[in-house]
Amino acid sequence: MNWYADFVNKLITCRACPRLVKHREEVKPLSKFSDDKYWRRPVPPWGDLTNARIMIVGLAPAAHGGNRTGRMFTGDSSAQFLFKALHMAGLSNRPYSISRNDDVTVRCIYITSVVKCAPPNNKPTTDEIRTCVNNWFRYEIQRIKPKAIVTLGHIAFQGVRLVLGINAEFRHGDYVDVNGVRIFMSYHPSPRNTNTGRLKIEDLVRILKMASEYAGCG
Ligand code: SF4
Repeated sequence: MNWYADFVNKLITCRACPRLVKHREEVKPLSKFSDDKYWRRPVPPWGDLTNARIMIVGLAPAAHGGNRTGRMFTGDSSAQFLFKALHMAGLSNRPYSISRNDDVTVRCIYITSVVKCAPPNNKPTTDEIRTCVNNWFRYEIQRIKPKAIVTLGHIAFQGVRLVLGINAEFRHGDYVDVNGVRIFMSYHPSPRNTNTGRLKIEDLVRILKMASEYAGCG
């Protein structure tokens, strides 16, 4: 898809948010990873570009996940939980997401985030969210034209709300319809939510299956 290659080529040079640029470039590597293996740029979205009908939307890349591997929801524990659920819902060929060379393929989904650079403490400011949504995320929604969007956490929902003008609040397990697009809400699959049982795998699978059915992904 031509738009995607152009989009990614431009995205990975973005330096619009000085605080996030500094963080993504200076984050200290975990001892088990070498520094030269870190991506340290805006993290590209990915997915089934010819047939994506569902957008899976996270908050931002993790410092040692996407910011290391260079692919959204890849290489950290949140990614493993999400991909276990995607696999159980029939949307991924593998129950994991480890690296850009892991032979994972997905079906009917496009995986992205409202903020493309890893923020300190996973907390982008309101201005940073607005900047990244207006520079990049808004365009992705216009190009993908999803039938369903699965928002992972309230900041992901906030980003979608900015673009689509939704008049609703985040509520885990709920959904809202806007102009024929159904927006599903789930807690983020972060260790804080999954280790405490706040988000169970069966809950996320159920939400993904509902999105799949609504979007006609079979
Ligand atoms: Fe650019 Fe988004 Fe990264 Fe800000 S967060 S520097 S807008 S890619």
